[in-house]
Amino acid sequence: MLKIGNHLSSSKGYKAMGETALKLDADTFAFFTRNPRGGQAKKIDEEDVKAFLQLAKEHHFEKLVAHAPYTLNPCSADAHLREFARNTFEDDLKRMEYTPGNYYNFHPGSHVKQGVDVGIEYIAEMLNDVLTKEQSTTVLLETMAGKGSEVGRNFQELRAVLDRVELKEKMGVCLDTCHVWDGGYDIVNDLDGVLEEFDKIIGLDRLCAIHLNDSMNGCGSHKDRHAKIGEGQIGLEALVRVINHPKLRQLPFILETPNDDAGYAAEIALLRSKYVE
Ligand code: FE
Ligand code: FE
Ligand code: ZN
Repeated sequence: MLKIGNHLSSSKGYKAMGETALKLDADTFAFFTRNPRGGQAKKIDEEDVKAFLQLAKEHHFEKLVAHAPYTLNPCSADAHLREFARNTFEDDLKRMEYTPGNYYNFHPGSHVKQGVDVGIEYIAEMLNDVLTKEQSTTVLLETMAGKGSEVGRNFQELRAVLDRVELKEKMGVCLDTCHVWDGGYDIVNDLDGVLEEFDKIIGLDRLCAIHLNDSMNGCGSHKDRHAKIGEGQIGLEALVRVINHPKLRQLPFILETPNDDAGYAAEIALLRSKYVE
């Protein structure tokens, strides 16, 4: 069965997200662990989490793919912002343990004018500070579109971060189809070649999740504007090849497309109908 879901609002809690996912015929979902712009996280309601875990068990939910706030920049030039990123990340990892064994995905950050090598060192430094042997969460680095000075614009940059992390068994990668396409990887005409390169540089065994998005822009545009499935320059056919690819088809797919609930339900139904069992 296709493991698929979308990004849900966490404002009404865990059980409400689980119920929304069921309504959309999803069996996984993504959510922000706190306000996407950062700031204080709401206290976790243990009863709510319990109710969600029960529901997730009954309905055989797959692993969830939580998302760190966008503003978190572990490689900022400003030491205070790096400290903010570190504290937020550490707190989020504690929160993730209420729902054990899931994924926590983050954007590696923007190095601004410091250069990518400095950026990579800072990101790895933060990970080495916050990861613990005891955590059950796997932390995912997301492949980025390469907008501005984003770190993670190619597979080599992610590999360089992973190389510097001590607890490698706690780390994985989330491939965003819009981002890699915008980053210059031609998943429309050469999906096999892109995956071979991923395997050579990072290793496909590190690939844990897919953000399934179409893109408003062309391959190599470095723009990062998501489009609805089939309404962008990647197109439905290529995205259907992604969900059915033998190296990818067992992974959880998360939609981050510009949709309301009805739109997500329609995309999930469409993709389920195109998945070859
Ligand atoms: Fe993301
Ligand atoms: Fe993404
Ligand atoms: Zn994006």
